[in-house]
Order: sequence, then C-alpha cells, then structure tokens
Amino acid sequence: MNAGNSCLTCGACCAHFRIVLHREELLHVPLKLTNQLNEQSFCMKGTDVYPPRCIALEGEVGQGVRCIIYADRPQVCREFNEYELDGSPNPSCFKLRGMVPPPH
Ligand code: SF4
Ligand code: SF4
Repeated sequence: MNAGNSCLTCGACCAHFRIVLHREELLHVPLKLTNQLNEQSFCMKGTDVYPPRCIALEGEVGQGVRCIIYADRPQVCREFNEYELDGSPNPSCFKLRGMVPPPH
C-alpha cells in the first residue's frame, strides 16, 4: 500500500496478504502490532487469520482507509504498489480490485 490516490480508497492488499516482516524491522514496526512466527520472522496481527485484515488498517476497504503506521510500515508493504518503479501496472494490485491492468 502506498500513498497513491487509489490506495486511499482501497486497502485491498492490507486485507488479503499475510504481511511478514523480519525481526530487524521491529526497530520501526511496533512489536505490539505483530505476532512472532519464528526466531527471525513476525507478521502483522490480523494477517495470519482468515479472512485477513491488518491491525494497522483503519477504515472501510474499498471506501476510505488509512495505515496507522504508514511511515513505519513493513518493507513488503512499501514494495506493493499500484504501479511498479518502471511505471508498469502491478497485476496483483489490479486483480485484487477486480480490475484489468491498463496497457503499459
Ligand atoms: S491493492 Fe493496490 S490500490 Fe489497493 S491499497 Fe493495495 S496497492 Fe493500493
Ligand atoms: S502495515 Fe499498513 S500498509 Fe502494511 S498491510 Fe498493514 S495497514 Fe497495510
């Protein structure tokens, strides 16, 4: 999830994936918002159950959402965006929203 306009009314990825982070990320991601998976790995609470929904997601998916730890969110969240760095659409993002990616 990024700060793009689509994300502000979406949140689909925050209510779909298990969000896993490395122990080192606990320097910024609050420990209390995570569950430990093993010695090195943690996940965001709410994303290791079905249906998943990250504990840090506020609002209503598809209407209006906000990540309460946006500046400190896990790396995997930073890397999942509507568009890739080269400007091509992220097919997984569009699929989650039930949309066909635009041509690149
Ligand atoms: S699914 Fe795509 S548009 Fe929706 S919040 Fe995630 S990155 Fe943003
Ligand atoms: S930490 Fe924020 S961006 Fe990442 S899944 Fe949770 S609500 Fe979404």
